Amino acid sequence: MNEIGHFINGKIVADGSHSQDITDPATGDAVARVFLADPMITREAISIAEQAFPAWAAITPLRRSRVMFRFKDLLERHQDMLARMISREHGKVFSDARAEITRGLEVVEFACGIPHLLKGEYSEEVGSNVDSFSVKQPLGVCVGITPFNFPAMVPMWMFPIALACGNSFILKPSEKDPGVSLKIAELLQEAGLPDGVFNVLQGDKDCVDILLADERVAAVSFVGSTPVAEYIYRRSSETGKRVQALGGAKNHLVVMPDADLSDTVDGLMGSAFGAAGERCMAISVAVAVGSVADDLVVRLKAKVGELRVGPGLDVSPENDMGPLISKEHLDKVTAYVQTGVAEGAELVVDGRDKVVEGAGKGFFLGGCLFDKVTAEMQIYQEEIFGPVLVVVRVPDYRAAVDLVAGHQFGNGAAIFTRDGDTARAFAKEVTCGMVGVNVPIPVPMAFHSFGGWKKSKFGVLNMHGQDGVRFYTRLKTVTARWPKGERQSSGFVMPTN
Ligand code: NAD
Repeated sequence: MNEIGHFINGKIVADGSHSQDITDPATGDAVARVFLADPMITREAISIAEQAFPAWAAITPLRRSRVMFRFKDLLERHQDMLARMISREHGKVFSDARAEITRGLEVVEFACGIPHLLKGEYSEEVGSNVDSFSVKQPLGVCVGITPFNFPAMVPMWMFPIALACGNSFILKPSEKDPGVSLKIAELLQEAGLPDGVFNVLQGDKDCVDILLADERVAAVSFVGSTPVAEYIYRRSSETGKRVQALGGAKNHLVVMPDADLSDTVDGLMGSAFGAAGERCMAISVAVAVGSVADDLVVRLKAKVGELRVGPGLDVSPENDMGPLISKEHLDKVTAYVQTGVAEGAELVVDGRDKVVEGAGKGFFLGGCLFDKVTAEMQIYQEEIFGPVLVVVRVPDYRAAVDLVAGHQFGNGAAIFTRDGDTARAFAKEVTCGMVGVNVPIPVPMAFHSFGGWKKSKFGVLNMHGQDGVRFYTRLKTVTARWPKGERQSSGFVMPTN
């Protein structure tokens, strides 16, 4: 069986305190084993990254950007291989896995522009014969801890910018689908990145805790569930690290009575059921405003029932969605469906009835649709992270905005309408970090920044875009006097000229 180890100082290290199976979610069969880092290996990786940092930071930004250009080229050439690997370990359909690489690659393209992004500020004559300039310098050893649902894209929100800024990096990917992390490390090496600058540690909470406690780690980027995000934020802050920690979500799509219902339903289907709902920007709540509700539910019911569910690597035709990541997660999601029924919501389509041809022991669940869900219900309040769409009926626009405001999460929200005034008001008033207007999944492009509000993000700065550069650099401001002529004696009053 394929063994997945760590990548430290340019080499694969297949060792650890223990190992665990990696399962193909479409079959339920073990396809590989991953070694989990013990404290010694974890500290070794930190030492290597610490040693590699000064030389890498001293290389000109232009040369660092050339490594990124070559890495981008290699990613493009190996995109299908990487996508197949993701599809096999995660379960998502092949074209979606390819799209995940593309979205990550866009951050690499952004990082290729690092000489421009690192340009500082300069003020001439801030005082007599005094000039002032600010530069952005790297932090040192940066750590990225990432979730299972985007094993390539989420790490690529982080390390391309961190590396291009001159930092060294340790990636701690999800232990559920770690294979692609090693391929990424090998491609970076092939692109010319010096050994030790990018390292991968496979591991669980034990490995994470050592990374968080170690004073040699300067910054931590985290993406995952909210309880862990909160924990990472608190622990990293306690040890004086810079930290950004993105958490869970419950994204609402508000359907106004004047919306184009055909477009809206198409948007809802893709955003709620793509990747089996295992996306932090998945729409999991459709907010039906006024008279639109009955028609919306009828149309959704027909489409949810027709979803093609099956292995992610099946082609011609490709399925709409694959399995869930694990048996435990499948059990958790089906338990939520049962909870919804017990809470009195109307289960319009029950995905538990879906028969998937040849599913074997795979972790499949069909699309589920609930109607008449209310804000007090657990299936509304909590993140389910599966193919379950709930419809909440509200009387008007104001009630829709208030509903979103009352939710603990604030990642994304969208509105579908033909009315410019309503759309504009929504963009201004809705309480979340990323907003779509007739766009169901408003994921910002690489040159903008990604991040939510409320319990969806802890820390100030978002991922990628200008915030990414801010996060992975610290500002230094130099005030310099080159006196001409007569020298002055000591001054004890702050200069004001
Ligand atoms: P998770 O929180 O279980 O795991 C994320 C990472 O943290 C993994 O690398 C894991 O090994 C590590 N980890 C898990 N438990 C830990 C603990 N107790 N202490 C220290 N480290 C721990 O998340 P997941 O199940 O892999 O991913 C799904 C979650 O991620 C969902 O909640 C989803 O909304 C969220 N997510 C959020 C975003 C976003 O941008 N906000 C993006 C993708 C995923």
